[in-house]
Amino acid sequence: MIVGFNFKKKFGQNFLSDKNLLTSIANDAQITADSQALEIGAGAGALTEVLAENAKKVVSVEIDRDLKPYLDLLCDKYKNLNIIFGDFLKLDKETIEQNFDGKYKVVANLPYYITTPIIFRLLDEHFNAESLTLMVQKEVAERFCATVGTSDYGAVSVILQSQADLKITRIVDKSLFYPRPNVDSAVINITINHDKFKIDDREAFAKVVKASFGYRRKTLINSLQLGLGIDKALAESAVKELNKPLDIRGERLSVEDYIELTKILSKSGCTL
Ligand code: SAM
Repeated sequence: MIVGFNFKKKFGQNFLSDKNLLTSIANDAQITADSQALEIGAGAGALTEVLAENAKKVVSVEIDRDLKPYLDLLCDKYKNLNIIFGDFLKLDKETIEQNFDGKYKVVANLPYYITTPIIFRLLDEHFNAESLTLMVQKEVAERFCATVGTSDYGAVSVILQSQADLKITRIVDKSLFYPRPNVDSAVINITINHDKFKIDDREAFAKVVKASFGYRRKTLINSLQLGLGIDKALAESAVKELNKPLDIRGERLSVEDYIELTKILSKSGCTL
C-alpha cells in the first residue's frame, strides 16, 4: 500500500492491494501472454502490475498526475507498459488505440462515480475492445445483469444486454479496498457483441427503452405516452400490436420485445 498519499474521493480512489484478488481479476478477464489490455484508472498500479506481468501489452489511463512517481517506477520495470495521463472520458479514442495492434481487453477497478459513462463511451463509440472486465459497485453489477421481471431490471439492463453478454464473476468485500468504500463491489465480465440483435436504429431503441422505464409505477402505455410525448391511443395500439396485455409494465418486456416495440412505434409515424 502506498504511504503518505493523499487519496482523492472526487476521483473515486479506492485502491486494491490483495495479490490473490488482483490475479483473479486478470484471470476473469482471460489475460494471457498474447493479450493486450487497457486499464482505466491505474491508481498506484497494483492491478496494472499484474496485467503487465501477464499480458503482451498494457496501456493504462490515469487522471491524477500525483500518482506519476509511483507509475513511473512501474514503467521502468515493465517495458510492455504505457501510462497515459488524462481523463478517459475526454481523451481521443485514437490517442488510446494507436498503442494497440488490433483488439484488446479492458480490465479495470473503475472509479465508481463514472462507471456508466465509461461503459457507454466504450460501447457507443465502438472502441476496439472485445471484452470489459470491471470492478463496479455490487448493486450496479446486479442492475446491469438483471433478468426481465425482476426489481433490478431497468433501462440500463436492456440497453447493455442488447449488445453484450454479461456475467458477475465475483463479489468483492469492501474490506479489500483502501480507503474502504461504504458498499461491496463485484467484478463483471461484459463480452461485447454489437451484432447480438439486429437493431436498425439504436438511438430510437434507447429512447423507447428509457421512456418505458421512466415512470416505474405506471403502465407501459402511460410511460410511453409521457416519456415519448405521444397520444395514448398510439401507445395503446403499439402495445396491442406487440400482443401484450394493456396493463403490462416496462419491466415485463424482454430485449426482443423492445426491439419489436421500437419497430412498431417507428412505422406508426412516431418520431423517435
Ligand atoms: N487500479 C487501481 C487499483 O485497483 O488499486 C485504482 C482504482 S481506483 C477505484 C480508480 C482510479 O481511477 C483512481 O486512480 C482515479 O484517480 C482514476 N480515475 C478517476 N477518474 C478518472 C478518469 N476520468 N479517467 C482516468 N482515470 C480516472
